[in-house]
Amino acid sequence: GVTEMSVTDSETLATLNRVFGYEAFRGEQEAVIEHVVAGGDAVVLMPTGGGKSLCYQIPALVRPGTGIVVSPLIALMQDQVDALRALGVRAGFINSTQDFDERRVVEAEFLAGELDLLYLAPERLRLDTTMDLLSRGKISVFAIDEAHCVSQWGHDFRPDYLTLSVLGERWPDVPRIALTATATHATHQEITQRLDMPRARHFVASFDRPNIQYRIVPKSDPRKQLLAFLRAEHAGDAGIVYCLSRNSVERTAEFLSQHGIEAVPYHAGLDAGTRAAHQSRFLREDGLVVVATIAFGMGIDKPDVRFVAHLDLPKSVEGYYQETGRAGRDGLPSTAWMAYGLNDVIQQRKLIQSSEGDEAFRRRAAAHLDSMLALCETARCRRGQLLAYFGQEPDPSGCGNCDTCLTPPETWDGTIAAQKVLSTVVRLQRERGQKFGAGQIIDILLGKRTGRVIQFDHDQLSVFGIGEDLTEGEWRGVVRQLLAQGLLAVEGEYGTLVLTDASATVLRRERKVPLRKEPKRPAASRSGSSS
Ligand code: ADP
Ligand code: ZN
Repeated sequence: GVTEMSVTDSETLATLNRVFGYEAFRGEQEAVIEHVVAGGDAVVLMPTGGGKSLCYQIPALVRPGTGIVVSPLIALMQDQVDALRALGVRAGFINSTQDFDERRVVEAEFLAGELDLLYLAPERLRLDTTMDLLSRGKISVFAIDEAHCVSQWGHDFRPDYLTLSVLGERWPDVPRIALTATATHATHQEITQRLDMPRARHFVASFDRPNIQYRIVPKSDPRKQLLAFLRAEHAGDAGIVYCLSRNSVERTAEFLSQHGIEAVPYHAGLDAGTRAAHQSRFLREDGLVVVATIAFGMGIDKPDVRFVAHLDLPKSVEGYYQETGRAGRDGLPSTAWMAYGLNDVIQQRKLIQSSEGDEAFRRRAAAHLDSMLALCETARCRRGQLLAYFGQEPDPSGCGNCDTCLTPPETWDGTIAAQKVLSTVVRLQRERGQKFGAGQIIDILLGKRTGRVIQFDHDQLSVFGIGEDLTEGEWRGVVRQLLAQGLLAVEGEYGTLVLTDASATVLRRERKVPLRKEPKRPAASRSGSSS
């Protein structure tokens, strides 16, 4: 009844104030918590930093019994439990890092009803012993954190998550709450279905992070560009730099350190002790930069990360959003900065082609990459494009806080340039039966008599030198954008360029090819050139 509602109401708010020391709920938190406290199932989509934890922690405190939290982030459980205990919450965890005795203590506390929250790794739930244990205690709520791990198409798929569908059968009266920051409609559907939560209420928070400024710059010398960016805008700030390979993580961390910016590497090739040490330095110190592969950051809760920089292209918009979302959780101005170039496109396309996955997997990976490339190449508001990707309505007049809003890029009619590139690819293939990568194609267009051009007689082609009107950098931009628009494709381990079905429409002059202008770079000293 009405009175019952208001009792719950004040109890949840009182818990927020008393235990967590916060004055008010944020966004959807209150609605979610009310619903779960009243015994309902919930699927919660909230961006990273949105405050998902309280959505299950408060119901666990308000309802009788122990809240069971399923989380794949074993490395963080100790920290999470310590943080809760510091607030006076009776929390514990069971995972593979414990010895037998430690586990026994936690189990006994659970059975005695002395725990508010119990964190479990998903692989534990497969075990009969765990199921037995759970059925001998009293459970207030099941929270399934990082619920997108149930999605077989995602990067984070955990087979053990599939077993979580039994929770509803075995404990029909215990509410379940699934939480994730991954937002696409497909993932959302999959979570609901695979966790068997048909009656769940869905709570979808806004994905806009207005305090993050999105910027994507053309890549020339990424480490130097990064250094200039950090010196100009983020001196002394904490931040994360993402690179694709361990090797470039190491070299970038070294480069920054040598140039007076304190930076440490983080990747799966480092031993666990070093990784833990670097992570805790990052959390505790004020202005440390972590250079990392994507292995770093899942579940990291540091409010004052002032920038996230990408030196390599993320594989999907979801990945980009999650990684950049680690900046500015405190709501203060922060930057998401990325350097992106032709080689990123070629490298990612090659990775997809040489992957072990089946045809369907490749098609999905290619679709993910295409959305990411569209974000990089757009001449319109980046935030608008991001929100639209997540199915949310962007502001049609732009956000005013991304590079394309702040300095709208110029576009030009690249139809003829596109035709020149495509004709060169066609000639090589038709007349010579050859395929080459972007470098050789551009050398031919520029009329450069390099060793390889002479070796293959490419100076005899009719297209030799027809592209002297553009610079090498501009040609790389043209090729990159053609790849991004699907008007050109990459093939094989050498990344040779080949036509797509859509290429023909350009060659037949049936469509125009608008391109973004490449920003001017400091002129490279070209000997003898006066133009
Ligand atoms: P998520 O799991 O969604 O990434 P968290 O639950 O870790 O986010 O919360 C992010 C940060 O916001 C944490 O530091 C948390 O303490 C803080 N926070 C959450 N809810 C509130 C609130 N209602 N008022 C103030 N701070 C909050
Ligand atoms: Zn914008």
